[in-house]
Amino acid sequence: MLQRVEGIVLRANPYGESNVIITLLTRELGKIGVVARGAKKTNSRLASVTQLFTYGSYLIQKGSGLGTLSQGELIDSFRDLREDLIATSYASIIVELTDKAVEEKKNNPYLFELILQLLQRMNDGADAEALTYLYMTKMIPVLGYHPFFDYCINCKCSANENIFVAFSVKDGGFLCQRCKHTDPYAFSITEKSVKLMRLFYHFDVNRLGKIEVSEQTKKVLQQILFSYYDEYSGIYLKSRKFLEQLKAMDNFLKSDKKSE
Ligand SMILES: [Zn+2]
Repeated sequence: MLQRVEGIVLRANPYGESNVIITLLTRELGKIGVVARGAKKTNSRLASVTQLFTYGSYLIQKGSGLGTLSQGELIDSFRDLREDLIATSYASIIVELTDKAVEEKKNNPYLFELILQLLQRMNDGADAEALTYLYMTKMIPVLGYHPFFDYCINCKCSANENIFVAFSVKDGGFLCQRCKHTDPYAFSITEKSVKLMRLFYHFDVNRLGKIEVSEQTKKVLQQILFSYYDEYSGIYLKSRKFLEQLKAMDNFLKSDKKSE
């Protein structure tokens, strides 16, 4: 049976001499795997539509196992995003995390729309790092966890009554000033970062305007979110390792320039 779906490529693996197996997050069927025969050949019609995080319209032949890709039309390749290596590696974190966290054939149109919007925003030049942290915050419940974003995890005072000053990865949520001592390993966090995390958690991305986040705040979010994922998700991201190497190289080149 042939079916047309809209999808985003989450993963592309070479298979045999000339084929590529792609994992698509589709609007209609959730996550599916399909074989794109001949897609590895540069002159293949399927070569451009099987690249990582490409957004396209795909005609697939469904089978009992993996389906087969019969045709694909490009909707958006996010060209500007691809030209920026650092932004590309953040986009890779988003698709790899989705691939590893989402079960097959479970339809989630909300998630599809979210990823599409994030890629579009990144392509328009928005802060790819901040958007990745937004995505990681929103994905926590998809992984089956429900951290406390509105109450202190220890005394249960609310965000309106008190100022939260720390985030405890161990207990999964914010701590107020009085309770900060209950987890000596909790990350100190500014009021701004608390607000931002709550905003990321609760609001639809299309309701958020331009997202401006300081370097300092991004550093805090990075620490909290990656620690949280390391602690609970059991997901190892190759793209994160790549990004870290890239950043280290970038810093090295910058410091080299300064010393000249
Ligand atoms: Zn408290």
